[in-house]
Amino acid sequence: MEKLQFLTYEEIQTKCERLSDVYEIDEEKFYRVVEKWADEKTTTEKKLLASFEELLLVVSNEITSMEEVLEMKPTCRMGCAFCCYFPIIINEMEAKLMKKAIENFSEERKEAVTSHLSRYYRKYGEKLDRMPALDTDTDDDFKSTYIKSQIPCAMLNTETNQCMAYEIRPIPCRTYMNYTDPLVCAGNEMPKETVSFEFLYEQYMGALNEFMRFLYEDGDTDFIDYPNDVYATDYLANWFKTKQV
Ligand code: SF4
Repeated sequence: MEKLQFLTYEEIQTKCERLSDVYEIDEEKFYRVVEKWADEKTTTEKKLLASFEELLLVVSNEITSMEEVLEMKPTCRMGCAFCCYFPIIINEMEAKLMKKAIENFSEERKEAVTSHLSRYYRKYGEKLDRMPALDTDTDDDFKSTYIKSQIPCAMLNTETNQCMAYEIRPIPCRTYMNYTDPLVCAGNEMPKETVSFEFLYEQYMGALNEFMRFLYEDGDTDFIDYPNDVYATDYLANWFKTKQV
């Protein structure tokens, strides 16, 4: 059987260094999403949820476009979930919107998530409580501490190693990619070869933030608590456990 050829660390670095010369992020793509939904005659929740889902897709499409320009193919595969043990941090609005999106899943899928979450917190709840409080400014080691604890993401089905909310997976996991031998993720807590496109958070949250502010100032304060919804951040697993979102 032909041996798969993977990019080397050096090749990945060289390609990524070229990115800003060969690709320009079109911020307008993000703002067009919220402008479209601002004009729709529907509820604030539906406008925000639809914008959230579409903005996540814009992020993924941007990554695909960058990969095409750089001639890189991701080697991430379904069933590979090493990065689902990373601390996934989201803000309160993202948590609210993920919950809303899950409410719209089919009954069968919703029931699967609900029963998974109750098993999850029985198994990992105490361990989760011992995780360092989120303090990315002063605790450089918090990521390593979290990964070492081997707490899976609350959305990870650990039997299949598949995400139970894949289409609405948040920015940190959506933007984390591998372009070399997937074994680097198995052998290293934080492999140096992986690439993060998390910089796209700026355009994604920029557009979502603007939309939230616009709707809030327009009087839609039932679903939105602005700006707290943007500034309150926590581990994804904590939002689904303890927070009333
Ligand atoms: S949301 Fe899904 S893809 Fe992201 S870390 Fe959790 S299980 Fe993995």
